[in-house]
Amino acid sequence: MFQNLGISQSQRSRFNPIEAVSYPRDRSDADRVKDRDADEGENQVLKHDRYDARIGDNMREFCGLLAKEVRALLEEVGEKEFRAKQLFDWVYQKGVTRYDEMLNLPQSLRVFLKEKVQLGLLTLEKVEDSEDGETRKFLWRLPDNRFVESVLILSGERKTVCVSSQVGCPARCAFCASGKEGMIRNLTPAEIVEQVVLINQTLNERVSHLVFMGMGEPLENYSSVVRALKILIDPHLMGFSPRKITVSTVGVVPNIKRLMEEDLKVNLALSLHAPNQHIRKKVVPYARKFPFEDVLKSAQEYAKFTKRDLTYEYVLLDGINDREENAEELASLLKGQQCSVNLIPYNPVMGLNLKRPSKEKIETFQEILSKRGIRTTRRYTKGKDIAAACGQLALKKNL
Ligand code: SAH
Repeated sequence: MFQNLGISQSQRSRFNPIEAVSYPRDRSDADRVKDRDADEGENQVLKHDRYDARIGDNMREFCGLLAKEVRALLEEVGEKEFRAKQLFDWVYQKGVTRYDEMLNLPQSLRVFLKEKVQLGLLTLEKVEDSEDGETRKFLWRLPDNRFVESVLILSGERKTVCVSSQVGCPARCAFCASGKEGMIRNLTPAEIVEQVVLINQTLNERVSHLVFMGMGEPLENYSSVVRALKILIDPHLMGFSPRKITVSTVGVVPNIKRLMEEDLKVNLALSLHAPNQHIRKKVVPYARKFPFEDVLKSAQEYAKFTKRDLTYEYVLLDGINDREENAEELASLLKGQQCSVNLIPYNPVMGLNLKRPSKEKIETFQEILSKRGIRTTRRYTKGKDIAAACGQLALKKNL
């Protein structure tokens, strides 16, 4: 299986502690307890976000480098500018993550890069295909032996990759597997980008769309995610159109504003899951930190500023947020907005005492919204047989 995916044996068990020291991968137990207990505290927005002061450290991981940084690095060691283009071509077009295979680079440069700039951080641990062949789940081993997953969703012409941004998640939404293990650590920019590079390598046609809906809360790993977005969008590097990228958030208000100001123009999805603060608080612990009105307002401002339609995600949970009156309230709330609501029937997670509503209830909910002029899509959580909702495969491994 690994051979088919072009991921070699030697990439599977590499962990070089010397190269890895520059990233805050390892978090102390005390840190983790603090994170867990910090639900209501102040000043938490940037708690996990340690990259701002450490941009220089990104020099250590190739897929975390902006184009100008690669060029500067090559210049520093006396290499010609065209070498940068060759490197970008190997990594971002061909998906090669071993310097040894880059045969048009001089040996000395390959040796230098091997020593100084890490590439191939992710090791494929497991791939699972759903029975319908429309979903493929990739479980990645990280250099510190943690696990994250990405999901490839095939739908007609679309090849969407759902990427992870953290190991675990601080948001701890009631229905989600990722939050069960709490927040373990942020992914580095390169660990985010490599998920896409490596999946691309397995396909004949390239990935067409990206959604940040895997493990983690992307806006709690703000600077890594923004850096990864810049690399994914740069036409010299990965070259995605920002229109094809969606960042999904539980609603970290200050960072929605920051993202708006970056002007990257990626799409935003807000995981709302409720028509009001009262119900939202039951499902989304972050609602205590960022009240309903504020979350809605900042997401709407983002959409207005970027001229992108907003997507609201709404996981339907039996008896909690799936009543007709909930649909009516949601319709009134969103009336007249340029938006759509993505209805997602709850996908059972082991150990959680929640239920998916009946088909009839789901249909009624959708009809109410449609009749009131709200655009809806309904996501039947694909790949149910392979590991259900995002985070479950990795959860089993990280515990
Ligand atoms: N933290 C971000 C991104 C990760 S979760 C956010 O909250 O948006 C992204 C989406 O995964 C959620 O909105 C929800 O649609 C989906 N999800 C997670 N667990 C699920 C489950 N058990 N059943 C159905 N959807 C789930």
